[in-house]
Amino acid sequence: MSTETANSVLGEATIGELEAELRGTVVRPGDASYEEARTIWNAAHDRKPALVVRCAGTADVMRAVEFARSQDLRVAVRGGAHSIAGFSTCDGGIVIDLSAMKGAWVDPVRRRAVAQPGLTWADLDRETQAFGLATPGGLVSTTGIAGFTLGGGLGWLVRRHGLASDNLVAADIVTADGRFVHASADENPDLFWALRGGGGNFGVVTSFEYELHPVGPQVLAGLIFYPLDEAQQVIKGWRDQIAGMPDELTTLVNLTTAPPLPFLPEEVHGTRIVVIAGMHSGSADAAEAAVRPLRTLGTPIADVMGPMPYVAMQSLLDPLWTSGAYNYFTSAFIDASDAAIDAVTQRHLTTPTPASELHLHQLGGAFSRVPADATAFSQRDAGVLCNVVARAPEPTGFEEHAAWAREAREEMARHGNGATYVNFTGDAAEDKVRASYPRGVHDRLVRVKDEYDPTNLFRLNQNIRPSSTR
Ligand code: FAD
Repeated sequence: MSTETANSVLGEATIGELEAELRGTVVRPGDASYEEARTIWNAAHDRKPALVVRCAGTADVMRAVEFARSQDLRVAVRGGAHSIAGFSTCDGGIVIDLSAMKGAWVDPVRRRAVAQPGLTWADLDRETQAFGLATPGGLVSTTGIAGFTLGGGLGWLVRRHGLASDNLVAADIVTADGRFVHASADENPDLFWALRGGGGNFGVVTSFEYELHPVGPQVLAGLIFYPLDEAQQVIKGWRDQIAGMPDELTTLVNLTTAPPLPFLPEEVHGTRIVVIAGMHSGSADAAEAAVRPLRTLGTPIADVMGPMPYVAMQSLLDPLWTSGAYNYFTSAFIDASDAAIDAVTQRHLTTPTPASELHLHQLGGAFSRVPADATAFSQRDAGVLCNVVARAPEPTGFEEHAAWAREAREEMARHGNGATYVNFTGDAAEDKVRASYPRGVHDRLVRVKDEYDPTNLFRLNQNIRPSSTR
């Protein structure tokens, strides 16, 4: 018996030796769990790895990296499996699957959490909220903390406490040569800088240490639905409001198609609408005063913004973002000028499927107070991030849907500095990587890559190519 890889044929004995040394397991083609093990959130990436190594701990990660290097295997690293571009699986290579590494240790006195890379935001929020604490997570609780944090990490606390990566205080990482390295402001500071926005380029992170903040457990949050014919008025009104909003409030405009929710009148189900989503994490009185102007931007079809548990808001959108659909995301940092709002409203009229959407993420606050050179994520001046989502339940027309998204992004990018956000990038094109970082930041990332992964073992990511491959 043997297993074919992209570059070679692995003998059964070789795989057996690997398996014998692990605390975790190896899954390969033909195994009962192979279909599940090779599948990621985005069905657009249907790949067949030669091996999925399900690591139980850091020692397994070190062994898997060594094995991949010695066998010259293509390497995919997987945390929560939510890579839009499909980086956490591959054809004929090895998947280093960290999803079973779910340890979380909360220190409520020091307000720190040490988290393993298999946790999702639902998992980590569960542990931190037990102490009334949280670190900024994402809008969908099934997303993994690992890929999310390494690319930046934007969620409902971004204006109050910054990105997930802004709250990372240290990380442990297994590098391409098998070394176990600690990175923090004091130890390997260049690597620590690169890990906060530079993605999975530098090795496999086996532990993340986050700063925690008091959050909730109750917040004021939810959604306000407006009709399509008020879109321009609502979005321009929102834009005028956001400049004066307190940091405790983070909002998002979703140009979408109304799902068949019971509190929406039946006649709007399946029609295009505009939704203002938001969360205020301050006191109840301050929260109500801050969100009041959002309730009167037009004539709401439904207003379901009110007090709820923080963890409820963190998972409110989960039912809309189930796995198994075909997805392509792409994004642009923009200024919310009248022209940009006109453009996004027009694009909304051409969304290719009901699940396709355009999001305007409000930035500012704590996010923009982080100095641009403090982390590899450096788009700190932008006021709004426009994320264009093409999503459909079946593969038919996927290329056309993705083309719609690319075209919409190109238009929206003309209303900003042209930059994009790695975590919302649905392909591996080098021009998108370049567009994610200012020139000097990219050059600095290349220097860190040269030091920690000079042969580009970790290249299934928004790849920073080392000098040796240029
Ligand atoms: P994975 O697919 O497991 O990993 C993605 C990549 O990250 C890997 O290929 C690898 O390159 C790298 N990686 C993962 N784990 C490690 C590790 N331990 N060490 C080194 N490299 C690693 N982003 C936001 O900013 N805000 C949002 O609100 C948001 N919502 C989302 C909702 C959905 C439904 C989806 C699908 C994505 C969303 N994203 C959001 C984007 C998300 O941040 C990225 O897709 C992120 O990469 C997902 O991380 P993961 O661990 O789940 O993914």
